[in-house]
Amino acid sequence: MRYVDEFRDPEIITRTCEEIRRLADPGRHYRIMEVCGGHTHAIYRFGLKDVLPDNLELIHGPGCPVCVLPMGRIDDGLALGKQPNVVFTAFGDMMRVPGAHGSPLEHKAAGMDVRIVYSPSDALKLARNNPDKHVMFFAIGFETTAPSTALTLMRAKAEGIRNFSVFCNHVTIIPAIRAILDSPDMRLDAFIGPGHVSTVIGCRPYEWIARDEKKPIVVSGFEPLDLLQSVVMLLRQLKEGRAVVENQYARVVPWEGNRAALAAMAEVFQLRPYFEWRGLGFISQSALRIRDSYAAWDAEKVFDVAGVRVTDPKAAQCGEVLKGVLKPVQCKLFGRECTPERPVGALMVSSEGSCAAYYNYEHRKAAASKRDLAPV
Ligand code: SF4
Repeated sequence: MRYVDEFRDPEIITRTCEEIRRLADPGRHYRIMEVCGGHTHAIYRFGLKDVLPDNLELIHGPGCPVCVLPMGRIDDGLALGKQPNVVFTAFGDMMRVPGAHGSPLEHKAAGMDVRIVYSPSDALKLARNNPDKHVMFFAIGFETTAPSTALTLMRAKAEGIRNFSVFCNHVTIIPAIRAILDSPDMRLDAFIGPGHVSTVIGCRPYEWIARDEKKPIVVSGFEPLDLLQSVVMLLRQLKEGRAVVENQYARVVPWEGNRAALAAMAEVFQLRPYFEWRGLGFISQSALRIRDSYAAWDAEKVFDVAGVRVTDPKAAQCGEVLKGVLKPVQCKLFGRECTPERPVGALMVSSEGSCAAYYNYEHRKAAASKRDLAPV
């Protein structure tokens, strides 16, 4: 398959791994953060950790939107869904994310009208077809998904559909990277830049990371060779003492971003003064709210929102894992109280969550090989 097979070619992968070993200084320990949850998933899925030198550590970043959403926002959204005649709609990966009083799926089992949609326009269609109900879409995601929410709101306004609203939880990636870099317990050498987000925002917004922080950043695709080539590009920069933004994923990511998507976002959204991120705390100008010109479709204006704040269970170490300070397996609950079947934290729910990725690929693999080795 084009754009897949050539990025999984074993011979080129072998040569690229040799190049990585040649470039990596054995006297140095490298800490490279992959910002995007999709990259974390790909790294575990393809076993890339196993082909990298031991002195090259990949740190998982905060780029899983479900994982960084604080529990209080989930509870607020579910409280709106409990209002009479309201249909709660969300993407499938939100359904098992636990709030303080259960997940959307558990609320559905208890009788709430909860429906999975594949896009915000599906939710709008539901509103169009059910004029006697109010359909609320729980919007989540980085700049990757925000344009489709914006376009749906523009459509709702153009058609005058008033029984539809959006509970907006869209966040932006740049302030999260800034918060990571400002974190005193974090030491990083370089970044693998997010591929999906960059299809919308382009590469320019990362320039300060190279210029001011002197950290190389390479925007990467999601196939094994994409990620390994990105590591090569980063190691070359580090070896040569350079720090610039490079685009390994040029077949998809335009340097200037997607102007139409950015224009739709600018029409509908504005930055919130601050927003709470799970594990990272309050970050200023890090999330989007719906502009007043779309207030009639803003669930936070249509309904009263309590603004619940919930602290994570004490033993859960989602915050440290999100910041890359701890590996998933170092959380006290990993694989015992917290599993993909019974998740305590959101990082164990989303396929982009580092705990779920680690559990599904590394942990199961280790458990299987233990079983194979057990005497019969
Ligand atoms: S194992 Fe569970 S509780 Fe621990 S960090 Fe991961 S998601 Fe959070």
